[in-house]
Amino acid sequence: MQNWRSELNRLCVLLFLAGVLGYFLGHISLVMLTSLFLYYLINLYQLRRFNQWLSRDSSESDSEPPVSVGLWGDIFDGIYRLQKQERKASSYLANIIDKAQESSSALEMAVIMINKQGNLDWWNFAAEKLLGFQYPKDRNQSITNLLRDPRFSEYFHNGIYDETFKMKAPGESNKVLDFQIALFGENERLMIVRDITQLHRLESMRKDFVGNVSHELGTPITVIKGYLEAILDNLDELDEKWHIPMQQMQQQSMRMENIVRDLLMLSSLETKGLTKSQDEINLQQLFSEIESDTQQMFKDKAHSFEINCDPSLSIIGKRSELYSAISNLVSNAAKYTASGGQIELSAHASETSFDIEVRDNGPGIENHHIPRLTERFYRIDGSRSSDTGGTGLGLAIVKHVLARHDAELEIESKFGEGSRFICKLPPDRAILHPDGPKAIEISEPAEAEGSE
Ligand code: ADP
Repeated sequence: MQNWRSELNRLCVLLFLAGVLGYFLGHISLVMLTSLFLYYLINLYQLRRFNQWLSRDSSESDSEPPVSVGLWGDIFDGIYRLQKQERKASSYLANIIDKAQESSSALEMAVIMINKQGNLDWWNFAAEKLLGFQYPKDRNQSITNLLRDPRFSEYFHNGIYDETFKMKAPGESNKVLDFQIALFGENERLMIVRDITQLHRLESMRKDFVGNVSHELGTPITVIKGYLEAILDNLDELDEKWHIPMQQMQQQSMRMENIVRDLLMLSSLETKGLTKSQDEINLQQLFSEIESDTQQMFKDKAHSFEINCDPSLSIIGKRSELYSAISNLVSNAAKYTASGGQIELSAHASETSFDIEVRDNGPGIENHHIPRLTERFYRIDGSRSSDTGGTGLGLAIVKHVLARHDAELEIESKFGEGSRFICKLPPDRAILHPDGPKAIEISEPAEAEGSE
């Protein structure tokens, strides 16, 4: 601003002096015009220097600006300063990009950036190894063209990336990959792919091991139980000091049998997929069946049962599994609620939710236990559960069955007042037949596969 004023002053002085000189020479206008032309020529010269300086090639762009004073000096210095700042910022950014590329190429997991059109933007070296992408051939190619699996396309286009997606590596059937996508910017996606072959192998070995061990233990336990029953049938023939140990042995063999049965059930839930053919099960009938079985099992406790369910409400699912899950919840309610307690089975379906609930007025559960209840062998009080013959696997079975039916278990409890176990199912698993219950299609007989 200061230099702008002095430039204006300089022009005024020039015009004044030209006016005075013109007055003495008798040609005021001519001298003034000549001085203005000179002024214009000087500015034109500065413009030329400016243009020459700007048009130097980028390697010379670091060169100092032409020496100049006044307004033109200000312009040269200002632009030179901006140039230096921009150069500093871009070298800082380039440095960061170099570091990010270097570190991501050292990663074992593939990192892929996908633009909003779903095309590949950038990927690291691991992506070439794991997914076979080739640079630059695959740049701007659609990711769903390069990874041709309909399940991947569905996961990618679904836009809900809360969970990871697993599939075999393209062209390598013995490699298992885990895909995780995160959204950023304007609908762009960052995809991380990990090789989980080893983990997958270990997980299937664990499942096989549990399944095999449980299977192998089944026969010896049945034999031991059979002999114990025979001995207990003829208890009088045995020395009295063996009576109590024999009874305890029988109780423990029954517990072992229950644990093996529950482990086998869990193992089959983990390893076998849910069959496509599912049943339409009338809920009131299922509840009544479970109620009478549980009452039979806990007849000494004389609980009062209540069923609240629309008689025309049916559920779509695997009957044996749903029977097992609900009966586990009901037998837990009966097991942990003191004699004469109240147990309610209810179901409610609306357009947005479908809840099946088992409620009791038993001892309740302290809040800090609730998140861990569905873990295998997790018990609130070990001695209390072994007294009741529990295996600690019942709620794990419930969780697995529900997951196979796209559902979740919600537990609400007030210590000392009772508990509510709510199976949250998707609404499309509920069917209402207002004209009365439809004939039930039973694909296989109900088995009491619960933990009791
Ligand atoms: P268990 O075979 O020991 O019953 P579960 O997995 O079915 O195993 O249940 C885990 C634990 O949750 C039980 O040991 C018990 O302490 C607690 N529990 C389950 N249901 C109830 C209930 N209705 N009331 C109180 N506690 C419960």
